[in-house]
Amino acid sequence: MAEELKPDTLAVRAGGVRSDFREHSEALAVTTSFVYTSAAEAARRFANEEPGNIYSRFTNPTVAMFQDRLAALEGAQACVATATGMAAVATTMFGLLKSGDHIVAPRGVFGTVVPLLDQILARLGVATTWVDLPDLDQWRAAIRPDTRLLFVETPSNPVCEVADIAALAEIAKKAKALLAVDNCMCSPVLQRPLDLGADLVIHSATKYIDGQGRVLAGAIAGREEHVKGPLLGFVRTAGPAISPFNAWICLKGLETLPIRMRAQSQNALTLARWLESHPAVERVHYPGLASHPQHALAMRQQSAGGALLSFVVKGGREGAWRVIDGVRVISITANFGDVKSTICHPATTTHGRIPPAQREQAGIAEGLVRVGVGLEDPSDIMADLARGLEGR
Ligand SMILES: *Cc1c(COP(=O)(O)O)cnc(C)c1O
Repeated sequence: MAEELKPDTLAVRAGGVRSDFREHSEALAVTTSFVYTSAAEAARRFANEEPGNIYSRFTNPTVAMFQDRLAALEGAQACVATATGMAAVATTMFGLLKSGDHIVAPRGVFGTVVPLLDQILARLGVATTWVDLPDLDQWRAAIRPDTRLLFVETPSNPVCEVADIAALAEIAKKAKALLAVDNCMCSPVLQRPLDLGADLVIHSATKYIDGQGRVLAGAIAGREEHVKGPLLGFVRTAGPAISPFNAWICLKGLETLPIRMRAQSQNALTLARWLESHPAVERVHYPGLASHPQHALAMRQQSAGGALLSFVVKGGREGAWRVIDGVRVISITANFGDVKSTICHPATTTHGRIPPAQREQAGIAEGLVRVGVGLEDPSDIMADLARGLEGR
């Protein structure tokens, strides 16, 4: 779709293709395979001599609409969707790396990325060096001649550390390595990593892109040489393809992503300011607060702070659990990115599999509580948290 259209317009219009039925809402193509008019046409399609769908593990019209719309929003040449966000992370690694290659990644990555790199990829001969996310000197020092990929998530989950994407892109370029940015937390509405020099953008569409906590989905956006080559090749061969239904949910989710993202981000800022002034709270992690150590950087590369925050409650695990057990509106669940606010205790749930020493290093304190801020009235959310904070 025309480049000159604004992002909010692209979110609603980009990638839409009408079938012969002239439906207004995008069609959901629930089909495994596609039919041909003749044996010769089937042969041409299989030989890649003419475009067209063959089988939904390779291509599907609904999946293609989702991919094209997300690519437009990220400013990417191409996008490939996957079954989950972790499938997108794994596809990036398996599609682009080989035994003997080296990855640099920060300790503050999404919890499940740690065993993927440290156990599965390590077993296959791909080594990882872990660094402190904001410390560029550590990233530079970790580069080796065999470094092929720098992987980062910014802001990180759950402690909202912010990585300087442009600086990491420069380090990657010098090392002839690729920079992949997990943009789950901001979505293209608040941050566009490719504009800052990243090579690939990874999404867990399970979060804000769906936006209502219904489906698992993922995607990778970037240049055609990567996306249409080894990444799509991995998806169609190894099979972590997205279901058309889940792609359709995410496609329609993109239409309201800009207004949801901005509104939830505003609610998060309101909540973060209130928490920061609360006597039972030791510390608030939120990039939109002036007290955040990388506030200036965050405001340079993001248009708002995002909708996820975490805070350390006085009294360690007991204090954190009291806050969580006191809620009546907020959902106690590990997901976020939903219009319903969610709360969890990372040290014993999402990040419970990480060895305690490594967890401590990543800033996941026992008193840490994570809140995915939704669309409820912020005053109701504050009242919900106040109960446990004030021991009522
Ligand atoms: C949730 C999440 C993932 C994994 O996504 P799934 O869809 O659950 O597989 C990856 N990265 C980040 C930042 C996430 O929040």
